[in-house]
Amino acid sequence: MMAIPAALSAKYKDSFAYKTVKDRMPVIVAKVADSVFRAQSTIKESHGEKGSEDLKTIAGCVSKLRNEMMTNKVLIPIEDSRSDTKTWNAYLTEVTTQEGQAPAWFTSPWLYVECYMYRRIQEAVEKCSCLTQYDVFRAEKEMALSGSQEAVHTLVKFLFSLVKEIEGGKESNTRELFDQFMQVCLWGNKCDLSISAGMENAQVSCPLAQVDTLREYVLINDLDLVWNQLQKTGPVRVDIILDNAGFEIITDLCLAEFLLTAKLASSIHFHCKAFSWFVSDVTKDDFDHTLSFLMSSNSMAMDFVCKRWKEHLQNSTWKIHTHDFWTLPFPYCEMEKRSNDLYMELAQSGLLIFKGDLNYRKLVADINWPASTPFVTSLQGFGPGPLVSLRALKADVVTGLREGQADEMQTRDSQWMINGNWAVMSFADKH
Ligand code: MG
Repeated sequence: MMAIPAALSAKYKDSFAYKTVKDRMPVIVAKVADSVFRAQSTIKESHGEKGSEDLKTIAGCVSKLRNEMMTNKVLIPIEDSRSDTKTWNAYLTEVTTQEGQAPAWFTSPWLYVECYMYRRIQEAVEKCSCLTQYDVFRAEKEMALSGSQEAVHTLVKFLFSLVKEIEGGKESNTRELFDQFMQVCLWGNKCDLSISAGMENAQVSCPLAQVDTLREYVLINDLDLVWNQLQKTGPVRVDIILDNAGFEIITDLCLAEFLLTAKLASSIHFHCKAFSWFVSDVTKDDFDHTLSFLMSSNSMAMDFVCKRWKEHLQNSTWKIHTHDFWTLPFPYCEMEKRSNDLYMELAQSGLLIFKGDLNYRKLVADINWPASTPFVTSLQGFGPGPLVSLRALKADVVTGLREGQADEMQTRDSQWMINGNWAVMSFADKH
């Protein structure tokens, strides 16, 4: 593995994005405290006294966490018995040894600290006796989905008629549709509850109609390369490393269905988070909940696709994976060494689709690369297979731009790297 060049390893300590994340983190923890408080009566009804005690445990842990954060204390070991606890604590020792001092909340690399915060929230849940499956961000995620109902319906109806047409033998422009579904899937990534600090963030209109107008906001468009990759072989296994629940996962599922129906893919493997992560990231429960939501909507199109998707899951054309690595703080160039089993699993894929900002930051190791660094260089050897990152920019790290493009963007929109209005679709294949 390539070492991180020393000159580039200066992180975000003074950057605008780092300052906003410093403001955002205590807000997210306060929101958790608030939602735990509001859940009291429902939990008492469903889980009795034990449930109430558990909520008190979560509230206590979260208030301690907030205090540590606000006073910039050093990070402390995780104290539960989850499968990843040892790894987190070993890494804390590793960083402490490397830096010569224990990392602290607002003076350590942002990627590590932000991931650590979500792991500490999970620690509170792990300490419960009966609420061990409790998702502190469930309410926000459900609201994001139900608030996007109209956009969901538009997209699903479009997919429904398309599937009917293709299966009825009608000629369709697969290449154009491929571009369209990939771009809808990209813009579905605009909705992200961790960026809005858990504020309501639903997709009101479907980006399907806006794909043409949004095209100029795509700074890197490698769809030709992705398409060529899929043309090289017969239908392949495609893996989607998911980002957010709500409208975004609907766009992921629709893309998955299109790839199968158009015979560009033979199977789809979805990768979820093992626990509640960055507010809106998809867990296995969110995946199931999304299907139940579609089922209950009283629409022929939704009913049709939902039944079809359940069949895909039953006959393993679709598979759902979870792995602890996705909720660890490591950049992906360390995956082969740290989670070899996952790396080998991904190596079986014909195309890896990485969704969203956090996946992107981990792909490029959250390093302050010059923006014109080739994307493949910034991956530092990571590449179990051909991969594409679909990401709306929400953190000030980007690679693969042409010389001068970053300066032009700075003049055009000073917030271009963090406001989520601009995006990249970057492809790399090291083989
Ligand atoms: Mg997310």
